[in-house]
Amino acid sequence: MTETATDNSYQFQAEVARLLDLMVHSVYSEREVFLRELISNSADALDKLRYEALTNENLISDDEELAITLIADKKAKTLTLADNGIGMSRDELVNNLGTIARSGTKAFIDEIKADKDRQQSGPDLIGQFGVGFYSAFMVADRVDVISRRAGSNKTFKWSSDGKGAFEISPVDGDQPAGTRIILHVKDDAGKFLEENELRRIVHTYSDHISFPIYFESADKVESDDEENESAEETKKQINAANALWTRPKDEISAEQYKEFYHHTASAFDEPALTLHYTAEGRQLYTALLFVPSIPPFDLYDQQRDSHVKLYVKRIFITDDAKILPSYLRFVKGIVDSEDIPLNLSREMLQNNPLLAAIRKAVTNKLLSELKTCAKKDAENYLKIWENFGPVMKEGLYEDPERRDTLYELARFKTTRTELTSKVETGDDNPPAKWRALADYVADMPEKQEAIYYLAGDNMEQLKASPQLEGYLARDIEVLLLADPVDSFWVTTAVGYQGKPLKSITQGEADLDNLPLKDEGEKDKEAEAEDSISDTLIEKLKQALKDEVMDVKKSSRLVSSPACLVASTQAPDRQLEKMLAMQKGGPQMPGLKPILEINAGHALARALNKAITENKDERFEDLAFLLLDEARILEGNAPEDPAKFTERLNRLLLEE
Ligand code: ADP
Repeated sequence: MTETATDNSYQFQAEVARLLDLMVHSVYSEREVFLRELISNSADALDKLRYEALTNENLISDDEELAITLIADKKAKTLTLADNGIGMSRDELVNNLGTIARSGTKAFIDEIKADKDRQQSGPDLIGQFGVGFYSAFMVADRVDVISRRAGSNKTFKWSSDGKGAFEISPVDGDQPAGTRIILHVKDDAGKFLEENELRRIVHTYSDHISFPIYFESADKVESDDEENESAEETKKQINAANALWTRPKDEISAEQYKEFYHHTASAFDEPALTLHYTAEGRQLYTALLFVPSIPPFDLYDQQRDSHVKLYVKRIFITDDAKILPSYLRFVKGIVDSEDIPLNLSREMLQNNPLLAAIRKAVTNKLLSELKTCAKKDAENYLKIWENFGPVMKEGLYEDPERRDTLYELARFKTTRTELTSKVETGDDNPPAKWRALADYVADMPEKQEAIYYLAGDNMEQLKASPQLEGYLARDIEVLLLADPVDSFWVTTAVGYQGKPLKSITQGEADLDNLPLKDEGEKDKEAEAEDSISDTLIEKLKQALKDEVMDVKKSSRLVSSPACLVASTQAPDRQLEKMLAMQKGGPQMPGLKPILEINAGHALARALNKAITENKDERFEDLAFLLLDEARILEGNAPEDPAKFTERLNRLLLEE
């Protein structure tokens, strides 16, 4: 946002202005979600104060209760939300309530930006994403925020009608610490001043908040009877105010779990998995964890830490305790420890052995819960895997200790799931969508000794890879790995159930021992063998010596003329490509590939013919085209497109 003529007036950041415009003109029927958002902010502010007060006792006086109060004033048509939490300084008011900090709000903006038509359906998305503080403008035509940062003696007021600008002004006099948000309620939003309505909304969305929420009516009863007036109970608690995770599981409804998940994770989907338990062994703690059903848009962000919040005896400590390893960063929720000392600084906490033990226990418990889910609720598990599998696979190289468990949890696309048609399996038995390594190994033909994989940029390209042909012809399943992370974990993969993992684009194909599906193919192969003479191989090596390390006859190919593979010593072709991309430079010298040619292909015969007829130029053209075709099939461009076209044209125009 930019400062305008006067020092105290600011323009909203453009995106906020657009968002506010949507709020101000909102016809969204569930406007009540504004209360959930504001209460959630107040609860966070109270959590923050309680944490700071652990090391700075002056911040809270002994007799002060941390609470949220809703004050309805029908005469003034205002609803005030007051909290005695951390509060905001002048700068914080400007920054927090003038820009978009909240990830959910950013996602909301992106969503409506992505699709012009969405401008219309924007309001429907409000409830889905929750847009934090700004949702106040759905029910108010002016919002004042009066706030004093805990520990400071200066109070400031932020005020705006949501139409492009806001003002900041100092407030004199002794003011309570914390934040008061005064909503000047729109004419059509009067119901939000009714006690019953507010009770209902708090019960629906905010019952899990662990701080008391009070309702207070500012409307004095018009009466001369002083006593009667004071007898009127004006302050009533309207929530249960015990932390949800401390309640017995059977007393918590699915809806309450969901609301808690939304609050704690700033999420707006249904949790795909909820795990709530209390450990009573060597560590005493309670965990309440959620696996989302929609991947957060920042799943692959640089900041890869898990955000499971750490509480100690119901007091929020940090959301940076790294309770789960980063490959489980999609899991949200809280862990509340009974025995970690409360007065540890965040730095000391990181090395605390009790926390280390909790980390280990929670990670193991979560993985075992996922395993159970995979067994008992396979369909749900596959959805979880579809969303988060690429992240969980990071664990295959980051967490060797749990690698075996992760192998069991991993699901793969393979030649069976991708290249098997319904016709082959029959209508009643459609091909599986995902395969576990256990399925793969169980279905291996007797003589197969390795788990084969093919790694690449995208599934379509993998499916069209010539290197697969020999494996398909022998009915050998190949894992198709199209996630960027795949090229990394496979390099450290030690194998599963004693079977090593082997790239089909690296080293020897070792297919000779394995029988072909169709025996007829065998004769064709034997016949083809003869079409490749040692002279042909030698001549090809000579012609392509600058491009490839070696030329060999291939057992991998059935219908394609040639393919490139890496030597046993060199990294897998895909990994090589990714390493080169990371370095931003050309491939390292010495990593030239091996060209394998299909003896049965007409091009091999044409090459032989060129040799016998002594047509050197034609031989060279064919040799380079063979190489470039292999490159193209890998999804790359010919190294020298001009030469490629020249050669192709020469051959096409030949008499
Ligand atoms: P979010 O809560 O997701 O960060 P909001 O737009 O709702 O997004 O709020 C922006 C920021 O304003 C919060 O992160 C917080 O720093 C600050 N804030 C909002 N309400 C309060 C409050 N009641 N007390 C203290 N700070 C608050």
